[in-house]
Amino acid sequence: MIINTNSLEIFKQNEYRETDIGLVSNNAYLSIVATNNCQRNCFYCINSHTDRRLNLPIGKAVKNIKKLVDKYGIKEAVILGGEPLLHKDIVRLCRQVKEVGIKKLFLTTNGIELVNNPKLIRDLSRYLIGINMSCHMLGPETLDKMKVIYDTFHEKNVKVRINTNVWRENHDTLESLLDFIHTLTDACVCDEIRVSNLIFKDSFSVNNVNNLRAEMLILTDEEYQNFFSDYLAYESQRHAIFVNENTLGFVKYYLIPTPVPVIVNWNMGSKVSDQVCENEIEKRKINTFKCLVSGDISLSWNTKNIIQL
Ligand code: SF4
Repeated sequence: MIINTNSLEIFKQNEYRETDIGLVSNNAYLSIVATNNCQRNCFYCINSHTDRRLNLPIGKAVKNIKKLVDKYGIKEAVILGGEPLLHKDIVRLCRQVKEVGIKKLFLTTNGIELVNNPKLIRDLSRYLIGINMSCHMLGPETLDKMKVIYDTFHEKNVKVRINTNVWRENHDTLESLLDFIHTLTDACVCDEIRVSNLIFKDSFSVNNVNNLRAEMLILTDEEYQNFFSDYLAYESQRHAIFVNENTLGFVKYYLIPTPVPVIVNWNMGSKVSDQVCENEIEKRKINTFKCLVSGDISLSWNTKNIIQL
């Protein structure tokens, strides 16, 4: 198996340089919120309880992204939402983000708009190097659709990653997680799989409302710790496992070099807000920027930490 160290965040080593807003990583990346709109209503979504009619103003956003690239050397971005493919000009947004200097562009989607839409896949493929599809439950029909999407992106050299989360009764046993991974691997529908925990929203989020379902379904830190430890112990008997504790400064990443590589990452015991926004400028380490749905650039998912460029 050949694993390209360029394309997996686990191999990133951060070097920080002093700037007017704090210590900025040479690997800092930008998340761009294309829209708050979505067809779904996932209980853990940081976008819930927001105005779903908001769409990114491309002109303002691209102007700010260019300033961000020029000032802080940002090279990588991911477009997300809500569901980004519901932005009516999503392909133009991808093109213009590339034109202002973003070298590596990814997009995170629930995949609904990609079904039976090879033209959209081909148009996106001109600008993206990778697509992340969120997926939690699998049926034969889902796998068939994923296969068509995967093959079309694969033809255009766009890497497909499946993102999944662990919560109560969703891959929260070793057996169910292994079953999920093996099903995806056997069906040849992705190039890699990422498994993450869920975290409660805090002051870093768009809002800090945790609904009742989130309270019930998100595992405790101890439960996540035990669950991931069991999984890693199982895989470590079969494979060497790569670990980088500082990939994003505060999130632990593991890479399991299975036939379809699995990336496990989790963030526990520390609030994201503490890490990046709410400490002293000289001490804070900045690994991510957000382009909010308003087109402003922020250090968090909300308007409390908008930066002037
Ligand atoms: S599909 Fe994604 S954006 Fe839509 S509600 Fe679920 S988590 Fe949120």
